[in-house]
Amino acid sequence: MNQDMVVCNCGAQTIIKTSWTSQNPACRFHCCNRAGRTCGFVSWAEPPMNQNPAVMIPALSDTIRRHEENAREMAYKISLRDQQARTLARQNRVMKILLGCTWLFVVMYYICR
Ligand SMILES: [Zn+2]
Repeated sequence: MNQDMVVCNCGAQTIIKTSWTSQNPACRFHCCNRAGRTCGFVSWAEPPMNQNPAVMIPALSDTIRRHEENAREMAYKISLRDQQARTLARQNRVMKILLGCTWLFVVMYYICR
């Protein structure tokens, strides 16, 4: 199921929240995104966890693995953005120097003619 396509009773796209109740710890659910007056729509994003530790532990391991994968992906994207920022900063410095040189040439032109 594509989680981005869940629509509530208002016809709007839902947001995903995480339950931290003792009955459903760390379970993600879709709910209405309207501030204030929600339509009350709630639907599990994934089946509620089985309370059996033999089932729960592998499921939690999967969740941890998914989050670690996501964190690695984010760290990679951040490193790419940092690299782009450094490149842009370098280009910015070069452009400022070129602009300064251009102004210097213009001033020299008017002084020396
Ligand atoms: Zn709604």
